[in-house]
Order: sequence, then C-alpha cells, then structure tokens
Amino acid sequence: MNCWRHRDRVAVGVCTACGKGLCSEACGHDDGAIGLHCDEACAAHLRRRGARGDAPVGVVWSMLLVALGLALLYYGWHQTEWSLSVPNLLGMLFLWYGVVLLLQRFAQRRAPSP
Ligand SMILES: [Zn+2]
Ligand SMILES: [Zn+2]
Repeated sequence: MNCWRHRDRVAVGVCTACGKGLCSEACGHDDGAIGLHCDEACAAHLRRRGARGDAPVGVVWSMLLVALGLALLYYGWHQTEWSLSVPNLLGMLFLWYGVVLLLQRFAQRRAPSP
C-alpha cells in the first residue's frame, strides 16, 4: 500500500480511524493516547470513541461523590450546626474529591492535541 497523500511513497502505517496508508511522521500522527491517525478529523473521531469508553462512568462516579458530600453536609448541618463533626468532615471530603474528579475529567477533554 502507498501513502494516501503521496502516491509514490510506500506507507509505513495505517490510520486507525479510516484505514488510509500513511508514509511517515509527515502524514501519520501518533500522540500515544489515541493511536496513529491521518488528520484532525480522524483524531477527533478517535478521541470521541476513546472518551465514550470511560467518561460516563467517571462523571457518574464523581457526581455521586458530590451528591453524597452534599447530603452528608446537609445532614451534619441539621444535626450538629456548623462544627467539625464526622458527617461534616466526611461531607467535605466527598465533595472535594468529587469536584477534583470532575475538574480532572474536564481538563482531560479540553487538553489540546500535541
Ligand atoms: Zn484517517
Ligand atoms: Zn505521505
């Protein structure tokens, strides 16, 4: 197979998304996370496909942590007023961890491709 862009060059790789032949670093891009691809359209396709696999679980999990944290804070607030009681501390911990997970998730999605 020859490169899809340079018909006279032998392809050394194949785009993971569309299967086109790619001749070298000039035509094939590989940023590690999503595999070899020919252009930005295929890179976006691969990123979407990769994100579908683990993103929903991560988001649901961090949402659950935030909800649990809020519930514990609400419970702690009504039981003991504002003090460093166990429900308050646990609530803050869950809330903090959930928010950190969510922020990490958004940071990953917004990360520019190299
Ligand atoms: Zn492609
Ligand atoms: Zn080429």
